Amino acid sequence: MRILLVEDNASLADAIKDSLYKAGFEVDAVLEGEEALAAALHQTYDALVLDLGLPDMDGMDVLQKIRAAKNAVPVLVLTARDALSDKIEGLNSGADDYMVKPFEVGELIARLKALLRRPAQAVAPVLTLDNLSFDTNTRVTEIDGKMIDLSRREVDLLEQLIQSAGKIVTKKSIEQRMYSYGETGSANSIEVLVHRLRKKLQSHAAGVEIHTLKGIGYMMSEGAPKDPVKDGGRDADGE
Ligand code: CA
Repeated sequence: MRILLVEDNASLADAIKDSLYKAGFEVDAVLEGEEALAAALHQTYDALVLDLGLPDMDGMDVLQKIRAAKNAVPVLVLTARDALSDKIEGLNSGADDYMVKPFEVGELIARLKALLRRPAQAVAPVLTLDNLSFDTNTRVTEIDGKMIDLSRREVDLLEQLIQSAGKIVTKKSIEQRMYSYGETGSANSIEVLVHRLRKKLQSHAAGVEIHTLKGIGYMMSEGAPKDPVKDGGRDADGE
């Protein structure tokens, strides 16, 4: 999950960024409204955390411009102005939630998670595919009920693939959700990551397969043999 944080108070921004990262989010942080607009309109985010009091423009104008561009990204507004009239104005301008400063970062994370929880996930927070399960709240992966050890990036990748099981996930969308703005993995980092995840799933006899669609992306489906791969050899698709 990738978040754009717009907050001009650098120490507050750092603290929020840190906590969000520890909670499993990738975070791009910007300090000004113009930067926020440029990022929000050219990158894909799962949510925005937007301060209203910005040095170059009002956060509310940022929000209105994002909505005017038909961008429906969930937006959680941070405001020091706790007057009720401001809240009403904000909600009408398309904010999805509000927090009045000062606030507990833990509460911000809880509210963000609530915003990001899609209706299907609210009903079934644990996604399953054959003997593989992924808990979207705890981010724990299990195969046949046994927890398996995955790196942070492997978990991010698995989450995207299992959420779209049976559908193609493009390499670009994986990159966008996994890497922060300006952070670039090496050209083949996604391939390397997919390879590692595939090996781990196979070694734990997961009944799922990650298909490579050359030049397009990846797709997870049921159906790999459940015998663990013993020779560490080729994957099902020859990679
Ligand atoms: Ca501010």
